[in-house]
Amino acid sequence: MPMYEYRCSACEHQFELRQKFSDAPASECPQCGGHVEKMISQTAFSLKGDGWFAQGYCPKTEAPKPAGCASGGCCAA
Ligand SMILES: [Zn+2]
Repeated sequence: MPMYEYRCSACEHQFELRQKFSDAPASECPQCGGHVEKMISQTAFSLKGDGWFAQGYCPKTEAPKPAGCASGGCCAA
């Protein structure tokens, strides 16, 4: 289950929430009921990054693709 980080714009309280993709995002601060904004979680980022870097960065040029690139789909975009 992905972990989301929220930050309250009213009291600056930060909290993490484990949510399913189908769950509605949190909109209220559990502390003051203020408006919260979703932050880009470092955890989620590094998890994503690991897979990415493990496959190697795909060059835009016609240089040979890194091993695993063709099957990993990093050149799809
Ligand atoms: Zn708050």
